[in-house]
Amino acid sequence: MNIRIGNGYDIHRLVPDRPLILGGVKIPHHLGLLGHSDADALTHAIMDAMLGALSLGDIGHYFPPSDPKWSGANSLLLLQQVDELIQAKGWQVGNIDSVIIAEQPKMKPYLGTMQEKLANTLKIDNDQVGIKATTNEKLGPVGRQEGIAVYTVVLLVKS
Ligand SMILES: [Zn+2]
Repeated sequence: MNIRIGNGYDIHRLVPDRPLILGGVKIPHHLGLLGHSDADALTHAIMDAMLGALSLGDIGHYFPPSDPKWSGANSLLLLQQVDELIQAKGWQVGNIDSVIIAEQPKMKPYLGTMQEKLANTLKIDNDQVGIKATTNEKLGPVGRQEGIAVYTVVLLVKS
């Protein structure tokens, strides 16, 4: 098989006094995402999808929240490490498709910059990184603005 597919999911709580960072982009908002690292749910979901495609486990295994080393970590640097791991195993990212689910703030103005940052980190073209955003129609915890969730699929191709 020359292709592998992986899916990733992540959710982080929205709390005061934390930055809101998605895809490496700091988004102005009165709430931010709670987590051990920078809590970048988009980048985390992508890493989990890349690892999952090769049955390599999940990011908790490589960057355990119990390790103070990852406190406040820039998730793009973690993504770079995951990319190096899959490349060492002979694979590269074919394309990524992600959906951010957030009631607030509006994501659309930031999607292009997220795409650019993720593509630069993975050294692939911008059009290999799809990012969409939707609301949860005010339903459930995401709809009540208690958190932001992300779903991702990643296709890996043999290099
Ligand atoms: Zn996460």
